[in-house]
Amino acid sequence: MAKKRIHIYNDPVLRRKARRVNQISGTVRKLIEDMFETMYAGGGIGLAAPQVGVSKRVFIVDTKEVGGKLACINPRIISMSRNDLCPYNEGCLSLPNMEAEVIRPRRVTLEYTTPEGTATRVEADGLLARVIQHEHDHLDGILFVDRASSEKRPELLEEMNELEAAVHA
Ligand SMILES: [Zn+2]
Repeated sequence: MAKKRIHIYNDPVLRRKARRVNQISGTVRKLIEDMFETMYAGGGIGLAAPQVGVSKRVFIVDTKEVGGKLACINPRIISMSRNDLCPYNEGCLSLPNMEAEVIRPRRVTLEYTTPEGTATRVEADGLLARVIQHEHDHLDGILFVDRASSEKRPELLEEMNELEAAVHA
């Protein structure tokens, strides 16, 4: 396994729509192993492939709960509790030192393929549902700051630009 570099802030790969995985090759399985190592090293509970610079529809989750560890290839949220929303303070390994309240559906149903090639469905609520939605967004180039309230968003985007500038200073 090898730890990968995490792409941060305004890196264009974070804004790209990731491509479907057509074949679950050794390369994809190696990517997933490396992603787990990278996520644990960073102290995260979810990581999507674009965050390590790979624009593929793959994400991993480990909420440290029973049933909370997933490796998802070509994931698709097939239903969400649109009338049952809840707030949560989100962070992201790609947006270090940032946090914002995001309101999302409390429950989701996710379909995905495992690294072994098995089509799977999981019904999630609580933290797992939260992380699934956050990671799924990454595959469509969406960051949690985009989901913050419209009043909060401009200041978050400004903060992000300042943090990015500080990295390059
Ligand atoms: Zn994230």
